[in-house]
Amino acid sequence: MTDPPVPLHAQPEEYVTNPREFGLLADCESCFGLCCVALPFSASADFAVDKEGGQPCHNLRDDFRCSIHTRLRERGFPGCTVFDCFGAGQKVSQVTYEGRSWREAPETARQMYAVFPVMRQLHELLWYLAEALTLDAARPLHEALRLALAETERLTRQSAGVLEQLDVAAHRGEVNELLLRASELARDGLDGKECRGADLIGARLKRAGLRGANLRGAYLIGADLRGADLREADLIGADLRGADLSGADLTGCIFLTQAQVNAARGDSATRLPARLTRPAHWARGEGRPAGGERPDGGAGERRRSPGGRRGGQGTGRRPRRR
Ligand code: SF4
Repeated sequence: MTDPPVPLHAQPEEYVTNPREFGLLADCESCFGLCCVALPFSASADFAVDKEGGQPCHNLRDDFRCSIHTRLRERGFPGCTVFDCFGAGQKVSQVTYEGRSWREAPETARQMYAVFPVMRQLHELLWYLAEALTLDAARPLHEALRLALAETERLTRQSAGVLEQLDVAAHRGEVNELLLRASELARDGLDGKECRGADLIGARLKRAGLRGANLRGAYLIGADLRGADLREADLIGADLRGADLSGADLTGCIFLTQAQVNAARGDSATRLPARLTRPAHWARGEGRPAGGERPDGGAGERRRSPGGRRGGQGTGRRPRRR
């Protein structure tokens, strides 16, 4: 059994610079394919078929690996390539359920599928809290952020029954207040634009000056952000599916996740925060088409579910390993 350690004495930088060590990076080898079973999705530009929550995807093999892992985009499942559970899958599989899968113990399946999205939200909060702790400007909040990190980590280690009943929305709300204040401190003095939750679908924002902007939960699907200045912008929960970030500068962006970047388009001139990596499909010149449905939010924002998924709890799907 793998029990990813999250030592609370660790420096917050370590969580974001080495998320695998701290269990905040998906480890599909240790997961029971939960994102491919528990979550529903709708046929759309992101998913080739409809699937109900609790129904295993027809591409999921008996060993919990994806049979079309290397061809997800070609086979009509680009939404699977941008999902990130932040390590929730292996936590539920190996910690909460101690390595007993829903195949081995079908009587646990319903509850396991209910616990997974709760755990995903908690792990996402761990990621954001750790990032907030790296913000020097948020130093006045560091004690509160550390307490929230410890409490969130404690919650992840509760029993399945407790997790199933957990009012995770309330916890998210409390944490989000902290994250919002941290963001305000980090962007103080930059005079950034206020675009929280803005509908900017397909917006022409080429070379726009968005430094320090509040883009929390903004809908930027298919937006033209080529050459835009997004330095120190708060992008928590912003929907970047199909947005063109070619040549854009995202240095110092706050609360931008790898899944959001993976869902966008970009090029070799796009500048990303050091903690994030340039998606391989950018080099191939591949863009993702804008999805059809609006997702809801991150950490209390309205955006959350990847394209076409109904009621899911992710910002995109990560391809499962073979
Ligand atoms: S990665 Fe996508 S296509 Fe593959 S098994 Fe999971 S849900 Fe299905």
